[in-house]
Amino acid sequence: MNNVSVKFAFIMILTVFAGAYEVKSGQDATVSANKNTVKYVFLFIGDGMGDNHKILAEQAFQNGHPGARLFMTRLPVQARTITLNSEKKTTDSAAAGTAIACGVKTTNSKLGLDPAGKSLTSIAVLAKQKGMKVGMISTSALNDATPAAFYAHVDARDQFKTIVGDMAASGFDFFGGGKLHLGKSSEAEFAQTLKTAGYTILNGKSGLKSATTAKCYAQTPGYWVIDTKNPDVPTLAEYTLKASEVLDNPNGFFVMVEGGRIDHASHDNDAGAMIQELFAFDNAVKTGMEFQQKHPDDTLIVVTADHETGGLTLADDMQAQKAVILKQKASFFSILGDLKRIKNTEDNFEPAFSLVKEALGFDGFTKSEQADLKAVWTGDSKDKDKYKVFLSQAFKIRDLHCGVKWTTVGHSAAQITTAASGKGQELFAGNGENIAIFANLKQLISGCPP
Ligand SMILES: [Zn+2]
Repeated sequence: MNNVSVKFAFIMILTVFAGAYEVKSGQDATVSANKNTVKYVFLFIGDGMGDNHKILAEQAFQNGHPGARLFMTRLPVQARTITLNSEKKTTDSAAAGTAIACGVKTTNSKLGLDPAGKSLTSIAVLAKQKGMKVGMISTSALNDATPAAFYAHVDARDQFKTIVGDMAASGFDFFGGGKLHLGKSSEAEFAQTLKTAGYTILNGKSGLKSATTAKCYAQTPGYWVIDTKNPDVPTLAEYTLKASEVLDNPNGFFVMVEGGRIDHASHDNDAGAMIQELFAFDNAVKTGMEFQQKHPDDTLIVVTADHETGGLTLADDMQAQKAVILKQKASFFSILGDLKRIKNTEDNFEPAFSLVKEALGFDGFTKSEQADLKAVWTGDSKDKDKYKVFLSQAFKIRDLHCGVKWTTVGHSAAQITTAASGKGQELFAGNGENIAIFANLKQLISGCPP
């Protein structure tokens, strides 16, 4: 809801798409060192990022920037990946994270364990054993499911205290991103657990800047990119760049970078916030690609998703209208907070409606859509949160005018895309299960065929 954040987002978008970028071709990538192993690995995971999320972001931006593409969709290898869990059901981030990190399908909520509860070894742990340095970066909490799948072993993803114990014991070199989920513990308790294990806790942009080769957890409060007002919050790209600097060493590194809030925005069916999270994630991919340009024979970039969130469909060919979504000025979450300050009386429909129109940057509601919205605002709703129902309805109407439709507020069973570029990229060329990502990375890190 402020101009600063809008400008910030716009500048960021321009940065994302600025300039032509030469992706290393498959041929170039095979001209590599004589070793079978890869020295530098970037694994990017867009949480909840389906293919339509990327197409929507590209179509919205292509208005005014014809032909502009996301960096991740330009990678030379693009293949289909099945995300279903061990029960062939729609996965959560814990089971999907475990499949990608450890190569075994499991049941929802389990981290680093197979369905029977047997402990698994992640690709990050194997990289560490091989002498590589390891980094974990996320816009979500660092003890949330996706990063935790690389170091924790718990049968329920909300066992935050055990997860932080496993995080401290991992010996991984760099943790960067969202503050920890606390559960029943305190921030001080978790800080002590990490400090005892030799980690320095760093805060915000200045903290990240000061990171060295010593083990650290560079944290930042959770935030939506579209709402960011705090200049001390590092971007995902800044985390990625710093990690590549402090982790660089003769044995190489493995870095996992998660765009965690693409999922959160999609759970809210919030297309505007989702696109900004996705651009920030793509900008981190760009940072990995710039590193790869400097080390073309030694670097592998993999970009994948753990599952799709929101069942996003792009119903019509309404590309010009999709640009309207970029006019959104704040997240659903933030607009809802502002809306709740307006008393829910009939007289207050106009101020509430004005607030929503202003925040969405959209004024195309038809008379009958306005009447529907007024009926929600004034009517007897059985829903406990009438404000939320009202705002969801307004978002839904805006989306319909743009040819966008969400079909669930949960995860879907849709396949996602895994993209790759650089040394060993050919291993990622086939369609398959998410567990193949682990098998391929293991082969490239150990140097032995599976
Ligand atoms: Zn989710």
